[in-house]
Amino acid sequence: MGNPAVVVTAALVPTCTAAWLVWGAASAPADQGRNSDVPQSVAALPSVRPSVHPTKAPSRPPRTGRQLAGRVVVLDPGHNPTNNRHTTEIARKVDIGTARKECDTTGTATNAGYPEASYTLDVSRRVRKLLQDRGATVKLTQDGDRPYGPCIDERARIGNNAKADAVVSVHADGSAAGNRGYHVILPASVHKGVADTRAITKPSRLLGTALRDHFGDATGTKPSNYIGGGSGLDVRGDLGGLNLSRVPKVFIECGNMRDPKDAALVSSAAWRQKAAQGIADGITAYLEGRG
Ligand code: ZN
Repeated sequence: MGNPAVVVTAALVPTCTAAWLVWGAASAPADQGRNSDVPQSVAALPSVRPSVHPTKAPSRPPRTGRQLAGRVVVLDPGHNPTNNRHTTEIARKVDIGTARKECDTTGTATNAGYPEASYTLDVSRRVRKLLQDRGATVKLTQDGDRPYGPCIDERARIGNNAKADAVVSVHADGSAAGNRGYHVILPASVHKGVADTRAITKPSRLLGTALRDHFGDATGTKPSNYIGGGSGLDVRGDLGGLNLSRVPKVFIECGNMRDPKDAALVSSAAWRQKAAQGIADGITAYLEGRG
């Protein structure tokens, strides 16, 4: 979601999360650490629900069956592989309640030229397959089937109109080399203009913590060492995709494409499958905990 000018000129600023300094502090209280004490099967304990233990997602959801039948998941692959041919269209400003922001951005890339937009689309398709195998109805906000975008307000609207049970926006970051790891961005409580996240902050945090836990388990990677104080969680009120959502929604930044080690991971199809597994497992755990 980075401003392309920032990608080029400000190597020390995370291009996907340029405003993280503002909201990073807000995420600190959310840091309840990783869950080494998570029961292996919370599903076997009917009285335990995420609303009671918000960070204790089941670490091993069932991998078979169609337990997500009837559930609707929207996956939002960040950016668009051909946004760079439509710079005028994506520069159009849209209202996100707290500000007016670009319709969409080109995203970042590895130093070898693997674009974030290709990564996000590939991983989202892999997640879709995994969730469909579990019976979920899955919709992508774009499937490589449109010239640019959609704009961030439309991305939010797609989730809202689908009455999605969960929405995950898939990204990878573009920060300085040495900055590594994944983090999940949760919606801040925002109520201004067209933005109103008050009803989704709590369920989105449950979704986000489940995603964080399972992504780490599936990929073997660690939470970000540069955002979120080691919690793997950030909270932001400046993202249109979150501000305009009326259904539980989070972003995941799967790694830092500008770091050589993280770049090697995101460039590997085998690792992308692990990333997709983690995202699918996190969504599944969240949906089962509330189901
Ligand atoms: Zn992005």
